[in-house]
Amino acid sequence: MTQPQGGERPVVQKYGGTSVATLARIRRVAASVAEARRAAGGVVVVVSAMGATTDRLLGQARRLHPRPPARELDALLATGETVTAPLLAMALDALGTPAVSLSGLQAGIRTAPHHRRARIVDVVPQRITDELERGRVVVVAGFQGVIADTLETTTLGRGGSDTTAVALAAALGAGVCDIFTDVRGVYSADPRVVADARRLPEIGYDEMLELAAVGAAVLHPRAVEIAAAHAVPIRVRSTFHPRDQGTLVVREPTVEPRQKVRGIAHQEDCAKVTVVGVPDRPGIAAAIFSPLAAAGISVDAIVQNVGHAGLTDVSFTVAAADLDQIHDLLPQLVAAVGAAEATVDAAIAKVSVVGTGVLGSPGVAARMFRALADQRINIGMIVASEIRITATVPRDRAQDAVRALHRAYELERL
Ligand code: ADP
Ligand code: ASP
Ligand code: MG
Repeated sequence: MTQPQGGERPVVQKYGGTSVATLARIRRVAASVAEARRAAGGVVVVVSAMGATTDRLLGQARRLHPRPPARELDALLATGETVTAPLLAMALDALGTPAVSLSGLQAGIRTAPHHRRARIVDVVPQRITDELERGRVVVVAGFQGVIADTLETTTLGRGGSDTTAVALAAALGAGVCDIFTDVRGVYSADPRVVADARRLPEIGYDEMLELAAVGAAVLHPRAVEIAAAHAVPIRVRSTFHPRDQGTLVVREPTVEPRQKVRGIAHQEDCAKVTVVGVPDRPGIAAAIFSPLAAAGISVDAIVQNVGHAGLTDVSFTVAAADLDQIHDLLPQLVAAVGAAEATVDAAIAKVSVVGTGVLGSPGVAARMFRALADQRINIGMIVASEIRITATVPRDRAQDAVRALHRAYELERL
């Protein structure tokens, strides 16, 4: 991403769906943006679709087609953000703050040639810098981009407006990217599930990326990846309490005196796939996972069971949103590896304990399993890395599991 030369560093702010859900809220956001404009030089604002618009559009698509074509779905879903951006630009203009709205295409957001979860590969921010020089606030429709050579519309994956904002902050050389949302920052667990979850004043990119990747929806994982790659600090803060400090996501957070566990994340919309009776020989895992990777399906929590009589079972978890595609691929996959069958359990959830060095810390894993056992929550698969331990649990016990783990590590305390 090439940064423009000269000029002051612009401010980049992003407002999520709840923050722009109604015209009254858009007006309120406009007032905050106008204030930021008075304090800073250039202001770039990224907006999400209003309220539950994206879910509503997805629902409409599914009513017309059991498996809507990805290209058309992207064309449809992008309209949510396309509506918010001009509305906010108008609200700003009404306050006497000159503003211009830009689509992903106009803002120079170029993506890889994939639909639904396209990666940003380049940002060409010339139009944005031109508009900033004219003294206008630039309002960019989040979540959408275009394939560089065909100009086909793409979307960045659910929650992807965060990624638009951080990519623009990186490309424009902004000092910080402000993510305004409906909670007061990043918490030790989803504050809607754990009433006494604690707001984290600061968190490092590594831990934030891990939390986001395993379900902490407050930031899109790719936004954190881009922020880390370009050393852009992210401030997650509340639209409704704009004076709050929020949470600063940075490379080197100020170290708090604390234990190793940073937070608990959970993902309720996942499913477990088991390929049963797989011949236990080299190359089988590659044969199972390569076609999934080629289809753009990300797989987590892979477990290969102990083999019996030369046969083994391989289980993994996937996002529930990928199940349609998985169902299409399974017959061919089962045949390719000579397995007996494949089964899908769509009623599971994942809970994860995240913190730098958790696995190497004596007792962290034991405490997790004890806390779940005390609640009589049955653990399915367990996977661990240096920075997290994840267990699958029955979906209807996921929230109990998060609360039990939060208590077990006393995360409500500093
Ligand atoms: P926006 O529309 O502003 O992008 P999102 O719904 O995508 O908002 O993300 C904010 C939501 O993330 C919160 O309402 C909260 O329920 C959820 N969330 C999950 N985990 C966390 C966490 N650790 N800290 C804060 N919020 C979290
Ligand atoms: N509107 C999109 C979604 O609901 C993108 C976003 O809000 O970040 O996923
Ligand atoms: Mg979001």
